[in-house]
Amino acid sequence: MENTPNKIHTSICPVCGSKEIAPFLSCKDNLTTQEVFDICKCPVCGFAFTQDFPSEKEIGKYYEATAYVSHSDTHKGIINTLYHWARKVALKSKAKMVASYADNRKGMLLDIGSGTGYFLNKMKEQKWIVTGIEKSDAARQYTKQKFDIDCQPSEYLYEIPCKTKDVITMWHVLEHLEHLNSVLDHIQGILKNDGTLIIALPNKDSYDAAHYKEYWAAYDVPRHLWHFSPSDFEHLANRHQFEVVDTKPMYFDAFYISMLSEQNKGTTLGSLVGLIKGGIYFLKSLGNKERCSSLTYILKKKEIKQK
Ligand SMILES: [Zn+2]
Repeated sequence: MENTPNKIHTSICPVCGSKEIAPFLSCKDNLTTQEVFDICKCPVCGFAFTQDFPSEKEIGKYYEATAYVSHSDTHKGIINTLYHWARKVALKSKAKMVASYADNRKGMLLDIGSGTGYFLNKMKEQKWIVTGIEKSDAARQYTKQKFDIDCQPSEYLYEIPCKTKDVITMWHVLEHLEHLNSVLDHIQGILKNDGTLIIALPNKDSYDAAHYKEYWAAYDVPRHLWHFSPSDFEHLANRHQFEVVDTKPMYFDAFYISMLSEQNKGTTLGSLVGLIKGGIYFLKSLGNKERCSSLTYILKKKEIKQK
């Protein structure tokens, strides 16, 4: 990556190291600035990324939108209402997932990008010792006030001692992080040898992504820097000595993302149209989870031969 002060330019594929980078799509930042960003694709491994994205120091303003529901708690509008209902159901399923892959043991759980803390709180109720890392001051304060859980700022990740975490979760977070490879390397270090890493990501091979193309809301430029599909994510995971042991579809995202994508296109009655189309993509993905709107990857460390 060649860095100018404000923009991060990527000339080597962060997943496979290829230099054959090709243009893929141009997408608009529909949430805040209406600026256009290019997405490039690696023809070798299929990985895609937002080209010339704002650096960590500059990206703050692109998050300053009240519509960014992941960090808000308002109930205005049909999309928000559905989002909050879906969050409740999703929390239950996330907790179940952790329990099942951690073989029903309890221990130390780290949630990176813990947002407003709902997942941390759910796991704390289930007797996990939880730690949250969250970049936003406001979200950390919210978590403290609502759940009495202290969260740490981003730098804390690098202070965590080696092999101390039983479970590390990143729910729709990795696609936001500038230092993709170094974060994964570090996670490999702090996870216990028999620990579980759970990463949820939008799926650019999904039916909804194929349909909406540059309007697909989960490209979400420039907040989403990296755009994964199951095959390129597995490639990246392997590079960091992780094995993808399971993949779980996140069915609700097809509805939410389709509704937002219709809004991006400026469709009349976009929410309704998106809801119906989301339903179709949801039904199609039931038979083919690899094409579901979002996927949760369950990872374990690869067998360590020596050490
Ligand atoms: Zn590549």
